[in-house]
Amino acid sequence: MSSVIIEIDPASGFCFGVVKAVEAAENQLKIRQGQAYGDRRENEKIYSLGDIVHNDMEVERLKDKGLSAISNDELLNLDKKTILIRAHGEPPSTYQNAKKKGHTIIDATCPIVLRLQLRIKNSWIDLKDKNGQVIIYGKHGHAEVIGLVGQTNNEAIVVESMEEAMKIDLGKPIHFYAQTTKGIDEFDRIAAYLKENIQPGLEFKSFDTICRQVASRLPKVRHFAKNHDVMIFVGGKKSSNAKMLFAKCLEANQRSYMVSNGDELNEDWFGQPLISVGISGATSTPLWLLQQVAQKIEIITKDK
Ligand code: SF4
Repeated sequence: MSSVIIEIDPASGFCFGVVKAVEAAENQLKIRQGQAYGDRRENEKIYSLGDIVHNDMEVERLKDKGLSAISNDELLNLDKKTILIRAHGEPPSTYQNAKKKGHTIIDATCPIVLRLQLRIKNSWIDLKDKNGQVIIYGKHGHAEVIGLVGQTNNEAIVVESMEEAMKIDLGKPIHFYAQTTKGIDEFDRIAAYLKENIQPGLEFKSFDTICRQVASRLPKVRHFAKNHDVMIFVGGKKSSNAKMLFAKCLEANQRSYMVSNGDELNEDWFGQPLISVGISGATSTPLWLLQQVAQKIEIITKDK
C-alpha cells in the first residue's frame, strides 16, 4: 500500500445545476426502460442538445444508458422524440422548433441560468424604448450565451474581453450582465470601464450574475493545491470552468497537472519529494471519475 496521502478535494464534484440535469436524464431513462416494448432500444432513448456535461467520460457513461447528444440542426431532422435541455439552457427558438417537430421536452436548465435568462429578457424589454443595449460578458458561441442572447431577439452584444468592451457604443444606456461561469476580476474591470466612460446622464446598470458554485471554488482549489506536493486536476477539455480552476491550481502549485481521466497520468509527475497528492475537478467532473483517478495514483505511488 502507498504511504503517500491521496486526498480528493471535498469541494469538488458536480455543481448543483449539473447534478439536477444528470438526475433528470437518469430518471427519464429509468422510466423509459420500464415502459419500453417493441423496438426496445429506440423507445428507451432520449436525446440531449449537446453534451449533457463537458466531460467525455460522463457523456459516455450516460450514452451507454441511452442518452445521445444531438445538435440543434439534428433536432429538426427528428420527429416526436424526447429531448433533454441541459443545464446551460437554450434560446426560445429551440423550444419553438421542438414544438413544431412534436418533441417532448425535459427541461433541465439550471434554475440560476433560468433566472438570468428572465432578467436579461426584462432588461431588453425595459431598454427597448430607451434605445439601450444589453451587454453580456461571456464566451462567443458558448451554449449558455446563445440561450441568453436568444432572450433579446439576438440583439444583446457579447464581449469576451476588455478589448471588445472598448468597442461598445457609450452613447446609449447599458445593462451589463455576465455568463454564469465567467471570472469575476475581468467582469469587474469591464463594468468599471463602462461605468466610467458611458456618456454622462445615461443609464448604466451592472449585474454580477456569476454563479458562486464556480466562483467560490476558485480560492478553495487554490488553497487545496497549495497544501499538496502534487496536484492532479481532472476536467474535460471543453470545460471553461475546468481551465479557470486549473489555472488557480497552477498559480498555487507548479506541480499541478490536468488530465481528463486516469489513463493520462504520467509516472514522472510523482517523483520525490512526495508526501501528499491532491485531486480536484471541474463542476462538470463526476465524483466517480475523481475516485477512479485516486485509485490509479494509489497504484503509481505504491512503492514511493
Ligand atoms: S455553474 Fe452554477 S449556473 Fe452553471 S449549471 Fe452549475 S449551478 Fe448552474
